[in-house]
Amino acid sequence: MIVQLKEDISEIQKDSLIQEINQIGYKITEVKTQLGDYLVGIGKKEFDIRQIGQKEGIQDIHIVSDEYKLVSKKWKAKPTSIDLGDGVYIKDGDMAIMAGPCSIESEEQIIKVINHLQENGIKMMRGGVFKPRSSPYAFRGLGIDGLKLWYDLAQEAGIKIVTEVMQVSQIEEMYPYVDIYQVGARNTQNFNLLDELGKVDKTVMIKRGISGTIEELLQSAEYVFSGGNEKLILCERGIRTYEKASRNTLDLNAVPILKAKSHLPVVVDPSHGIGIREYVPQMALAGVMAGADGIIYETHEIPEKAYSDGQQTLDFDQSALLADWIRKTFAMRKTFDLL
Ligand code: PEP
Ligand code: MN
Repeated sequence: MIVQLKEDISEIQKDSLIQEINQIGYKITEVKTQLGDYLVGIGKKEFDIRQIGQKEGIQDIHIVSDEYKLVSKKWKAKPTSIDLGDGVYIKDGDMAIMAGPCSIESEEQIIKVINHLQENGIKMMRGGVFKPRSSPYAFRGLGIDGLKLWYDLAQEAGIKIVTEVMQVSQIEEMYPYVDIYQVGARNTQNFNLLDELGKVDKTVMIKRGISGTIEELLQSAEYVFSGGNEKLILCERGIRTYEKASRNTLDLNAVPILKAKSHLPVVVDPSHGIGIREYVPQMALAGVMAGADGIIYETHEIPEKAYSDGQQTLDFDQSALLADWIRKTFAMRKTFDLL
């Protein structure tokens, strides 16, 4: 159950409401976000919502039987729109493009990528300064100094920054320099990290766990929302299956399913999803047709020289073509939506 509270509800009204719902047999957690005040009730008992629906201080009351509640579409049919400022959105009915290298490597590299993005009208740059690598001997990122350098250059160019946060201690130091905190596939169920990201007022994009189910992804988003942050994006980036011919198995089924279950925007990452450069564009366009609200992919001036994930990284010519095709494919999808 989700009870949306009125802004002007008094503490007395709230306490009496909580008591009454407890008596029905529901355990209540109060959630305060930047946008609203909610009571989330967990319980199994059937009851008639008219029992409490008339009480003062209630804006609306909804029965949500899913394990996840606040990220569910069952109480909020209107899709969540992420507004990064300067006309940059990630939202239903729009197509966001986020592109950039797997790792931020140097000032020269950042400038080259920014120029490429600007030439192609791409407003969000992805890149890692803290890199989760399978091997401890691989390049692990330029860290906070790299992020500061990147921020100065991106600011000047009007480009937004999407970058991975790996641990709680990084949230605060990164805060002034990020537009979207990315939670990587290896951290999807790092509940401490998710709890802490609930306390910030910047957008969080949560990638699906390496062997995570759709429901687990939604539960991870629920952590951040119930922690107080409604600015959330879900990202399908492929899961581990028995298939060895591709790096991961990009689960495009997840896109329409997530869109049906949740009001949050959904982004597809074909680069990590398939892991093979030649096939990234096809999977990106398939993601668009599957209903994604955005595509995030890796690009680098010379992919063969990239410090990480070069095998799945597009060069700038391929990236320019893909960005164009993403937009064209999206325009075509929109005509289907009219049917
Ligand atoms: C990345 O985006 O470069 C990355 C490490 O992604 P993932 O967490 O999906 O593996
Ligand atoms: Mn990568």
